Amino acid sequence: MDKRIINFNPGPAALPEPVLQRARDEMLDWAGTGMSVLECSHRSKEFEALLHGAKARLTELLGIPDGYQVLFVGGGATLQFAMVPLNLCPPDGTASYVVTGSWAKKAYQEAGKVGRKAVIAATTETKEKTFHRIPKPAEIKVEGDPAYVHLCSNNTIFGTQWQQYPDLGKHVMIGDFSSDFMSRRMDVSKFGLIYAGAQKNVGPAGVTVVVGRKELLALEQPNLPTYLRYKIHAENDSLYNTPPVFGIYMVALVLDWIKEQGGLVALERRNDEKGQILYGAIDGSGGFYRGAADQDSRSLMNVTYRLPTEELEAAFVADAKKAGMVGLKGHRSVGGVRASTYNAVSVEHVKTLVAFMKEFQRTKG
Ligand SMILES: *Cc1c(COP(=O)(O)O)cnc(C)c1O
Repeated sequence: MDKRIINFNPGPAALPEPVLQRARDEMLDWAGTGMSVLECSHRSKEFEALLHGAKARLTELLGIPDGYQVLFVGGGATLQFAMVPLNLCPPDGTASYVVTGSWAKKAYQEAGKVGRKAVIAATTETKEKTFHRIPKPAEIKVEGDPAYVHLCSNNTIFGTQWQQYPDLGKHVMIGDFSSDFMSRRMDVSKFGLIYAGAQKNVGPAGVTVVVGRKELLALEQPNLPTYLRYKIHAENDSLYNTPPVFGIYMVALVLDWIKEQGGLVALERRNDEKGQILYGAIDGSGGFYRGAADQDSRSLMNVTYRLPTEELEAAFVADAKKAGMVGLKGHRSVGGVRASTYNAVSVEHVKTLVAFMKEFQRTKG
């Protein structure tokens, strides 16, 4: 265990150690089958039990109301950028997007690529093509009668996060939750459909969790390839074709771990504490560290900040690595430092980073 580093990677990202240990222990003999989950039929009773258990656990932890269904699909959140408009927006309809970051913009652009009329309800993009904030409710202008309004809950690259979701009345909200899924409580009933690539907060790359209202999942548009139809995944309970079995297994283990931690109430409290410690250190540094996002839009999952010079930023990332902390380099479009503090990153890890930040400022500042 002493080779484990402190992992601030943005995704794929840190997973809880007990989950990795359990996966290791079950690698040769899973659920009494005498084989690993990787070698087992997805039609076996053991795998079906795993799949249904994971869906039930997710429903319990997130408080998913009746009338919704959980799907596990492949293709990452990026495939959802296409599946959402293809399935939920008729070919002659309009889809509306709130653009708050790079992923939100990609989702908007993808709707256009698949032939839908995509419009922007609000954008916080600056002249320099960066994003630093979440829009105020009054900035969101939903015109006409779009099939849905799409937003991105947490902007992984720029480090902003919705503190409160807008109330859009009769409009159906769709959410990309890839980077803050299961990090805090949420009211699923505000959304028609949400999705999250697992590799930030709930598992490995290769599986995407979709939670949607059943009547939306049942919508059909003409000429869609089979795999791209929610209806097929819903009717076949995520078993139309071979699902990403290992990803689903890992998500199930992470959900068990979340339950053991005390569920979303406990994780939310812990993530708040981590944010207070880290943003407190940034704000208390006398301007040496400067938060990149507006205060009222700050993310608890991706903490982005700058140092006085790019040279110091490069030295910070390199010295942190020597001190056993990786993944801190900011995204190339933003620069600076980004500490991704997903669920598996502990309060202790964040305290270690803060101690390093103080020492770095003392010796190099
Ligand atoms: C990482 C990320 C994506 C892209 O996910 P893939 O699984 O790589 O397709 C989309 N949206 C958000 C918010 C992300 O953080």
